[in-house]
Amino acid sequence: MGAGRTAGRGVPENFFVIGITTTVPVEVLFAAGRRPVDLNNIFVASPEAAAMVAFAERAGIPSSVCAWTRGLYGAVHHLGLKEVVGVVSGDCSHTLALCEILESEGVKIHRFVYPPSRRAGDLERELRRFAESLGTTLAAAEAVKPALDAIRSLAGELFRLADGGGVASGDLFAGLLNTSDFFGDPDKCRRKLEAILVKAKTSPETVRPSVRLVSAGVPAILSDLWDVFERLGARFVDHETPRQYALLHGIGRGLTETYLGYTYPYDVFSRIEDVRTMAGVRSAVGLVHYVQSFCHRLMHDRLWRERIHLPILTVEADRPGRVDERTSTRMEAFMERLSV
Ligand code: SF4
Repeated sequence: MGAGRTAGRGVPENFFVIGITTTVPVEVLFAAGRRPVDLNNIFVASPEAAAMVAFAERAGIPSSVCAWTRGLYGAVHHLGLKEVVGVVSGDCSHTLALCEILESEGVKIHRFVYPPSRRAGDLERELRRFAESLGTTLAAAEAVKPALDAIRSLAGELFRLADGGGVASGDLFAGLLNTSDFFGDPDKCRRKLEAILVKAKTSPETVRPSVRLVSAGVPAILSDLWDVFERLGARFVDHETPRQYALLHGIGRGLTETYLGYTYPYDVFSRIEDVRTMAGVRSAVGLVHYVQSFCHRLMHDRLWRERIHLPILTVEADRPGRVDERTSTRMEAFMERLSV
């Protein structure tokens, strides 16, 4: 899969590109002179996503490991990356093994841990260690943050506009998600967000009545999930996962406070509480919980159902692609239920 290395999101092809397996303190990477690329975004946005999964299977990654993990492995090779940051605590139970496999193939791995204790002192020590392992300092990373926060503020503006129903569900998801790696190029990320904001502010969609929904879970592997929901009359006024990735709560704050307030890598209960609060504030009438086949987080579905007192649709998918007929029928039935 050597061809088309810069396809899809237009990844900068130079020695300093570093892959990330999920949201990490990117300030450290920029301070260390790296250009982070979120492997998830590369994988799912690529027309070669299915080929990346197949490549991983041929390399011996079992098909009982979720397709996101196989896609991340494929994306590292697709881009020819020499350096990757793996979050080995707080994200995915597969990442440790994935890192070991990549390491055995000559990829330099930097491990990052969101401390299970969720104590400020533990996180600050980990941030300092992480910075030093990349040849920089925590102070240098803190100095990078205001410039990235200025771009996160654009994502914040998009999120505020979404409350009025004026942002297409897919644009809200993408606009927030893009700040997970800033495309490895903050200026490019700023331009993309500005374009989405212009579209949102000038869209006639703002006057369309719709069923207000929120989403939670792991990022959807389906390319048209939000568009299909919109065709059925829905509008998402919050997407928990990319909103958390965008770290809106941490704008203007220090790194430790910011990454401590980030709920995704810690216990599921604070995630549920965050979504419950946001669904209330945004007057949502239903929740879509996206789950990935073969993911350990599937077990949490029960807890979401017990603790969010709204109609919930759990959408599960396996491989990258479009919404299938069975899922589409379930989505229609859910929307009919909310519309009566
Ligand atoms: S979907 Fe689940 S198992 Fe797959 S990479 Fe994400 S957290 Fe890990």
